[in-house]
Amino acid sequence: MTNQFLTLPDDERLRIAWPTANHSLFDAPEKFFARIRVNSDYGKPGWTRDCGKRFHRGCDIAPVKVTATGRTTRVIFTNCATNTDFESDEPTFVPLDDVFCVFDGTVAEVVADENVSDFGKHVVIEHAWPLGGAKFFTLYAHLSEAPSVTVSSRILQGAKVGRMGQTSRSADARNWMAIAPHLHFEVRDTDGRSYDPVEFLKRFLPPGP
Ligand SMILES: [Zn+2]
Repeated sequence: MTNQFLTLPDDERLRIAWPTANHSLFDAPEKFFARIRVNSDYGKPGWTRDCGKRFHRGCDIAPVKVTATGRTTRVIFTNCATNTDFESDEPTFVPLDDVFCVFDGTVAEVVADENVSDFGKHVVIEHAWPLGGAKFFTLYAHLSEAPSVTVSSRILQGAKVGRMGQTSRSADARNWMAIAPHLHFEVRDTDGRSYDPVEFLKRFLPPGP
C-alpha cells in the first residue's frame, strides 16, 4: 500500500448519490468530516494517524443525527511536534444516519461480525465504470446493525446499505469513533488501490444542494 491515491479516470462520467444524509461537503466541509477537538484534519482522506504512521485511505463522513450519551471517554492525544501525549475526557455520541449505495452495483462482500476486521461490520459493493467497463468498489465501514444486503445481489444507487455505527475489532478505533462517530467510505480499484474518496464525491455528485 502506498501513501497516495490513484487518479480517477478522466473520461468517465457518473452521476452518483450521497452516501449519507450529510450533504455539506461543498458548502460546509467542516461539518462533512468527522472531527476531533485537537486535529482539524481528522476524517479527511490522506490524514495520517499516529503522527504520520498510518495513511487514511477513506474519508470519515460525520452523521447528521446523533444521540449524546451523556458520558465521556478518556482519549490520549499526541502532540506530534513534541511527541508528547496528553489525556482528555471527551463527550461521546451514537450516530443514527442511514448509509446508502452511491451507484448501481452488486454486493461483493458483507461482513456482519465486527470482530473480524478493523472496518467492523461493513459492506463492499462492486461497480463498473460506464465507459471503460473496468470494475471499481465502494466500501462502507463501521456499520451498526448487521447489514441486510446479501452478497451477489444487485443493489441500486440510493438503496440502503445499513446504518452508521461504531463497530471495529480494534478497541482503540471504537474509542475514537465514540467521540467522533462516522461512516468510513472508500473507493478502490480491482487491485485494492484507493482513489481519493472526496475527489470521487466532488467529481460525480450532482451539483447543487
Ligand atoms: Zn476512516
